Amino acid sequence: MPQLHRRIPDSLPVLATGARWRDGASHVSTRDLDLSTLVGEQHRRGLARLRFTRYVEEQFRQHYADLNYPKVRPLLVIVTLAVVFLTGFGLARDNITPVTATFGLAVLMPLLMATLMASYQRERHYLYQPLLAASTLLTGLIVTSVTLRASLHGTPYYFATEVAWIMIVWLISGLLFWYAATTALTITATYIWGLFHWKFGLHETAFEAILLAAVNAVGALCCFQLEVTARQSFRNKGILEDLAERDGLTGLYNRRAYNAYMERIWRQSRRDGGQITIMLFDIDHFKAYNDLYGHQAGDDALKRVAKVISLGAQRPLDCAARLGGEEMSLVLYGPPSDFSRELPQHLRQRVETMEIPHAESGASRFLTVSVGVAVVAANGERSLKGAIQLADEALYQAKEDGRNRVVVKDAGSSHIETGRFRADRKRAVGS
Ligand code: GH3
Ligand code: MG
Ligand code: MG
Repeated sequence: MPQLHRRIPDSLPVLATGARWRDGASHVSTRDLDLSTLVGEQHRRGLARLRFTRYVEEQFRQHYADLNYPKVRPLLVIVTLAVVFLTGFGLARDNITPVTATFGLAVLMPLLMATLMASYQRERHYLYQPLLAASTLLTGLIVTSVTLRASLHGTPYYFATEVAWIMIVWLISGLLFWYAATTALTITATYIWGLFHWKFGLHETAFEAILLAAVNAVGALCCFQLEVTARQSFRNKGILEDLAERDGLTGLYNRRAYNAYMERIWRQSRRDGGQITIMLFDIDHFKAYNDLYGHQAGDDALKRVAKVISLGAQRPLDCAARLGGEEMSLVLYGPPSDFSRELPQHLRQRVETMEIPHAESGASRFLTVSVGVAVVAANGERSLKGAIQLADEALYQAKEDGRNRVVVKDAGSSHIETGRFRADRKRAVGS
């Protein structure tokens, strides 16, 4: 079998048959491509560690941020107003040092504004959690400074504000668990350091330290549970969406998802001029295979062929789908490359070299596929329907010419490739 310029792996990235769940981080054997278990499995691990694998984690964070924005934005506005008010009030009553006041106005205020702005910019959402953590941390440090100072001046009831802020960090701020933990524990540690530093009485120090430890424990537990619940509902939604888009037998995308994908990719090609390689695969003499070996053997063979085809979908914008019966499609998007040119032939050979016996094929001793390929770009002259029609014509020709071969068509030429010979034929093909 000729080598491809880019190697096709023997194993698939998790759910690599399309973009949505694609994640290069973990690999599974193609033998285990059972969609629902796979999604479930990677997510079960993700739940326990509060972290999904990279691509899914990114999607979860966006989803989580969207959930929290309505709650956090008013909080940010309230905190901003409170900082202004309390700075003035605290300075007047000497509860706040000029250094803290300057810090609050010069550092915290811009940070709060930046966090608020990040919450409105979806493409910057990766900044949102770190900014939110920094905002809640600095606010907490100011609260700590004010509380300790007030206690030194004989007004210990400010301690309630400290407790309230730590609870806000854990439960209301919308911070993910590890951000909340870092923030709340830093604030607590600073407060306890202050108690020792200014030599508060042993009783007071012990009482407040124990109370803060209890508050943090309750906050941590609730925050953890909230995040697990959010991750669970995100996972369930993902599994349902995935099941609705997949074909139950092969795990490839189903026809409905394929149609939606093609519309999307067509629009994209129209925008940026990218090229679309549409491959249609049809198993040769499959009816005879079913008749000879039985329907169950037919299903097994179909699954094995589908797995080979899905290996070709390696990039986020690629898609492998089952269009119905034993007809499948693989679509690649991007500029033509040696890889995209060699792939159809490689996949055809890979199916044949699985050596699934087919005594009544006529095309080979083994089960084979015919492949029709259309290489197109969306422009004013061609419709999506016309592009698929071109691939269909190529497939029809591959069948006519004897099966177990690849026929490629683009706007102006077509050529046939089989494992045994290659012949170029110039032929104008209308769209
Ligand atoms: P050709 O080489 O021209 O493609 O011949 P063919 O026999 O493959 O084509 P035809 O379209 O006449 O038959 C397709 C067969 O595929 C009919 C049916 O028995 C089989 N088939 C379609 N879907 C499934 C399926 O889900 N499972 C199984 N086992 N067989 C299927
Ligand atoms: Mg067939
Ligand atoms: Mg068919």
